[in-house]
Amino acid sequence: GDASSQAVDEHKDKLLDGLLSAGFDEKSCLSRYQSVLYRRPSPHKPSSYLQSRLRKYEDLHKQCGPYTESYNKTVEKLKSGHHLWTLYSGPTECNYIVWIASSGLGNKLLTVASAFLYALLTNRVLLVDRGKDMGDLFCEPFPEMSWLLPLDFPLNQFNKFERRSPESYGNMLKTNAISNTMNSLPPFLYLHLNHDYDDQDKRFLCDQDQSLLQKIPWLITRSNEYFVPSLFLISSFEQELSNLFPSKVTVFHHLGRYLFHPSNAVWGLITRYYEAYLANADERVGIQIRTFEHGTPPFQHVMDQIVACFLKEKILPEVDPSQEPILTASGNRKSKAVLITSLHSGYFDKIRNMYWEKPTVTGETIGVYQPSHEELQQTENNFHDRKAWAEMYLLSLTDVLITSSWSTFGYVAQSLAGLKPWILYRPENHTAPDPPCHRIVSMEPCFHAPPSLDCRAKTRIDNGALVPHIRHCEDVSVGLKLV
Ligand code: GDP
Repeated sequence: GDASSQAVDEHKDKLLDGLLSAGFDEKSCLSRYQSVLYRRPSPHKPSSYLQSRLRKYEDLHKQCGPYTESYNKTVEKLKSGHHLWTLYSGPTECNYIVWIASSGLGNKLLTVASAFLYALLTNRVLLVDRGKDMGDLFCEPFPEMSWLLPLDFPLNQFNKFERRSPESYGNMLKTNAISNTMNSLPPFLYLHLNHDYDDQDKRFLCDQDQSLLQKIPWLITRSNEYFVPSLFLISSFEQELSNLFPSKVTVFHHLGRYLFHPSNAVWGLITRYYEAYLANADERVGIQIRTFEHGTPPFQHVMDQIVACFLKEKILPEVDPSQEPILTASGNRKSKAVLITSLHSGYFDKIRNMYWEKPTVTGETIGVYQPSHEELQQTENNFHDRKAWAEMYLLSLTDVLITSSWSTFGYVAQSLAGLKPWILYRPENHTAPDPPCHRIVSMEPCFHAPPSLDCRAKTRIDNGALVPHIRHCEDVSVGLKLV
């Protein structure tokens, strides 16, 4: 509306410290410049180098995007002849990384950001397969040129790309169909970077393989993993990465806020909910509940764990068992709004009742809200995914976060927010763990399935002990994260 566009204009930082570029049409994507009205200013400023690389990327994208002359020429290489494998691709003006949708929405955002960082590091252009709803959920992130892969892209039979595809880099290495010394290279390669990838697929993340990959105009990847931490272990990217991110824990925080702007439909869900339930509280607490337990939720042990966590860490106050009304002047009562996200409503009911049935010992008023309870994950169902995105984003507008182990849904919220959440440990044998939760060391997402093979020596290594800024994750012990 007019009032909010005026508020945005008066806001000096609608470009998020130079992360975003000016000049987009505001109405076609309200969230891009209005996010400053809802989210606290980030204490993490993007480096001026990151800002200039983003502007440079935007120019490249404009020059190479869908249906540009360079795009058309590079696409021709995919069409010319049946024997793609023996065709020498030759140098091209524009090189691409195509991202194929896979897994839930949280995973999708993490992998798009990973692919985009790879594109920045290797001067490629990122194009995304729209799947069922990428175009419906997100605004275009780059000025004047779409990031959606055209529907008439010649290799659009994406479901044939999977672990066993002969076109995958891993399989081509296995059959010696490709090597750096060949002067005949294919015009495209499929990179299988899903959690079920094998040691050969993982060579994508080796320094030695980058010079070969650089010669391939089209890289097509399917991934459900946040592979950013492993890019930091590739020595030829080291300098560039430290210029881009002098603070290494801000990768998704910056790239996520740069790339993912809710579409107007989703922005409506976010802002209506925020205004109605969260805006007026003195503090907002987000609790993201995602269980991977057998049986029918809600689980008593998970409920116990959540309550133990927020009481022990003094995130929410105790209730007074005597039920005597506490006499404080109502005028100076602090209020907290608790935003719960979960596929189920059981936890919400219990926490809401807890604060309704008894007074808090501090006199604070606690409002408890949950936007939806979808019961089942229904990835690619349009309205379901809109709600999922709206809820991830709403969580990112809170001041304090509690998240669940293993969940990329929570990772996205924490990184966009710029918060280090308390993470609920995964219960074992249907028992609440003690301690129930733990404050994590950085807001970066966890790479759940990183390679553990040393690229040169081909022996297993502890990749969490190689450099001080990469550690195993708090919630996934084999995982890796930037700290
Ligand atoms: P992860 O599986 O926890 O890593 O997160 P993903 O986002 O990749 O996949 C889980 C999917 O389940 C989400 O994308 C939603 O479709 C659905 N989902 C899980 N938790 C919630 C929730 O709290 N709210 C809503 N609306 N959907 C959820």
